[in-house]
Amino acid sequence: MKVINTIAALRTLLEPMKVGQQKIALVPTMGALHKGHVSLISIAQQYADVVVCSIFVNPTQFTDPKDLEKYPRPLEHDMRMLKDAGCDVVFMPSVQEMYPEAESWHIDLGPAEFLLEGEFRRGHYQGVTQIVKKLFDAVLPDLAFFGQKDFQQILMIENMVAYFGLSVQLVSCPIIREDDGLAMSSRNIHLTAEDRRNALVLSRALTYVRDHFSEEEIPALLQEARAMISNTAGVELDYFTIADGRTLLPETDKDHPGLVALVAAKVGQTRLIDNMLLN
Ligand code: AMP
Repeated sequence: MKVINTIAALRTLLEPMKVGQQKIALVPTMGALHKGHVSLISIAQQYADVVVCSIFVNPTQFTDPKDLEKYPRPLEHDMRMLKDAGCDVVFMPSVQEMYPEAESWHIDLGPAEFLLEGEFRRGHYQGVTQIVKKLFDAVLPDLAFFGQKDFQQILMIENMVAYFGLSVQLVSCPIIREDDGLAMSSRNIHLTAEDRRNALVLSRALTYVRDHFSEEEIPALLQEARAMISNTAGVELDYFTIADGRTLLPETDKDHPGLVALVAAKVGQTRLIDNMLLN
């Protein structure tokens, strides 16, 4: 496994592989790796000859400086995980390498940018698309792998790819969960034992909606799911919605195709998101 810190060194390493017609996959992460990240690497290995995993805690996508500061960075653990996963290349640039000078970034990501996460974390998807574009430019991957866990993020990256007319193929990968249903997240490390128990209500509410989808109407499903969460001590609901998976607009017609239930809540001091596809 090669560990690379600069764009120049990455280009030098990848260039002969591209000339040799090898397919390159990129798995962008912010580190603090768990089985969800590893699943992305495993899926990428099925599609590509070379898998590059980037680890970069991108400052421009954090809307809360405290969140950036306390973001976990367990480097040795991450290296072990990536080695065990059989990752070929780790790209771990410094902030200076990715942002050598002050720059402004604003692109049109469509109206869904301002919904859900975009409403609670203003500017978040500008920062996300800014860094993903830089990573795409550095790696020039044939394919890039993202988790369905960050449902809206994939939509925004799709829109960025369309905006610039990039040729990279995006692959959405299923959410990996703990045995009790909690969606894996680098932020779960911040949960106290009590938070960890309370956090289960998110996946339970989503599962409730999915399991009762055929027999209950959407308003009743939403009412029950929101009540489950609001009645859990230590959990503060930001949103629970059933939406069109493309526009993210709320939907009350169960026959509408591509529906997804999405939730975000603060559990103790930690903000968590999760979602489930419904039809
Ligand atoms: P992050 O390090 O949180 O920026 O996540 C890096 C990538 O891993 C993103 O594409 C996430 O959607 C994905 N990811 C995070 N958690 C999970 C999970 N539980 N299952 C699958 N993919 C995930």
